[in-house]
Amino acid sequence: MPKQRAKLVVGNWKMHGRLAENAALLEAVAQGAAELPESVRVGVCVPFPYLAQAQALLAGSRVAWGAQDVSEHTQGAYTGEVAAAMIVDFGSSLVVVGHSERRTYHHEGAELVAVKTQRALEAGLTPIVCVGETLEQREAGEMHQVVGEQIDAVLAKLSAQEAVRIVVAYEPIWAIGTGKSATSQQAQEVHAFLRERLVAKGAQDVPLLYGGSVKPENAEELFREPDIDGGLVGGASLKYKDFLAICEAAGAVSVTQ
Ligand code: PEP
Repeated sequence: MPKQRAKLVVGNWKMHGRLAENAALLEAVAQGAAELPESVRVGVCVPFPYLAQAQALLAGSRVAWGAQDVSEHTQGAYTGEVAAAMIVDFGSSLVVVGHSERRTYHHEGAELVAVKTQRALEAGLTPIVCVGETLEQREAGEMHQVVGEQIDAVLAKLSAQEAVRIVVAYEPIWAIGTGKSATSQQAQEVHAFLRERLVAKGAQDVPLLYGGSVKPENAEELFREPDIDGGLVGGASLKYKDFLAICEAAGAVSVTQ
């Protein structure tokens, strides 16, 4: 039987957390991650003010950390913005770009997401580029067109050497925070489509994460799919037992079957 790819599981805390509860969560995740097989990598993307706390509590652990957005600018008079270099200052290695909540509530378009990806790469961060369709787009049969345009806008701005350094997360918008995950077949189908785009760019080994109501109950089935290299986990990343159970599910399918 073929060996599965290594898996990556990243928590997206969104706008949740307070210092005291974060400390308990980060310590539990760091402790649990130490028991995971080498074939599973783990990360958490926290609100900007908690990057220092993540650094203090996760440094030296198996858990990487980072932010949920980055400015398109490198520095200057951009009140409220956070530059990639600032994120790096706190030892981060990850940053989410193009999350659907940013695309929807902050009107971030494909071009802006592509520029943010470039800024992240220039600073040495691994951008987790999110793509995904709405329910209306899926029902109208526009799913491939939508995610194709989203990924192409980013890949068009990158060299092949840069493209191999990104992570892509397929997050169908109808599955985010709704409790209604895509089935493993639905997710695999889009992942295979995205993989073709990456192959064409010479970036076939880019990890393709699935996001959208990943939980302990569905994680293993999703992660068994050949083009699902792990998960971007929202709600369940706030509960250490659930998050670690998802990481363990990744571990269970990332060894020789
Ligand atoms: C997300 O925020 O990226 C996400 C996938 O959320 P949830 O797991 O809660 O659906």
